[in-house]
Amino acid sequence: MARLKAGLRKTGSSITTVFTGTKIDDALYEELEDALLMADTGVKATEALLHDLKRRVKEAKATDPAAVKALLAEALADLLQPLEKSIVIGAHQPTVIMVAGVNGAGKTTSIGKLTKYLADHDQQVLLAAADTFRAAAREQLGVWATRNTVEIVSQEGGDPAAVSFDAVTAGKARGKDVVLVDTAGRLPTQLHLMQELQKIKRVITKADGSAPHEVLLVIDGNTGQNALHQVKAFDEALGLTGLIVTKLDGTAKGGVLAAIAQEKPIPVYFIGVGEQVQDLQTFNAREFAQALLG
Ligand code: GDP
Repeated sequence: MARLKAGLRKTGSSITTVFTGTKIDDALYEELEDALLMADTGVKATEALLHDLKRRVKEAKATDPAAVKALLAEALADLLQPLEKSIVIGAHQPTVIMVAGVNGAGKTTSIGKLTKYLADHDQQVLLAAADTFRAAAREQLGVWATRNTVEIVSQEGGDPAAVSFDAVTAGKARGKDVVLVDTAGRLPTQLHLMQELQKIKRVITKADGSAPHEVLLVIDGNTGQNALHQVKAFDEALGLTGLIVTKLDGTAKGGVLAAIAQEKPIPVYFIGVGEQVQDLQTFNAREFAQALLG
């Protein structure tokens, strides 16, 4: 919580300064609207929040801005609540988790952190290096595998769908609990690469009829509304089941989670609050709202 609070300071401070005055008037709501938009909350979520807040203020008969701030924290927590869900591991053996995202979002780092998280929860993990384009990506994943002493299926320059197929098959044969498939970074506008992702997903299903059980998108919390566009586009192509939102340890655009909750409420399974392996947290709506506005 302390780390998240520090990370969201840049987002929160411009919003909380709105409440330093003494009056609840139109100017306060206008300033708040600007601050929420600046924090990349987006027009729809900002409107919804302000509407809900005004109702709460009226109901509570609040008379000072500090009380309005507390009511905003409640409204935000309620808006974010649908995003708070836990990833389900254990219903299938192995649980196959496919991970996608644009380059630099923090995908490989998040897979490394997730590997550690799962290993800490006594899960046998197998990594699949389905980013066959970049040798560096394979190496980076290999480092995470070594660090966590988990097996990895990797093939230089191979076909990413074939690597994924082999990994799922190996995961079943070796009795693994989780197969984590890392895919190469790509932009939603790169249609042939998006089709390749769809092929990877189809081939995973060929290896195991019920897989993939989770399709996760890693988004950079620092990219604000852009991240929301990515969620929409990747969801359309793949049918996402969950999100990992990274880099919430220093963002001015933390409002994007409200925008996601309003427009594309896909569960946020984890948030990234730093570069280290322990800097992965499960998402808690109330804690997030408090960290932002506390
Ligand atoms: P990929 O291209 O999506 O696989 O991205 P990487 O996993 O290589 O990460 C890109 C950069 O973001 C690296 O420098 C990571 O250390 C950094 N990064 C990833 N997650 C976080 C996070 O939660 N917080 C911070 N501050 N940096 C992160």
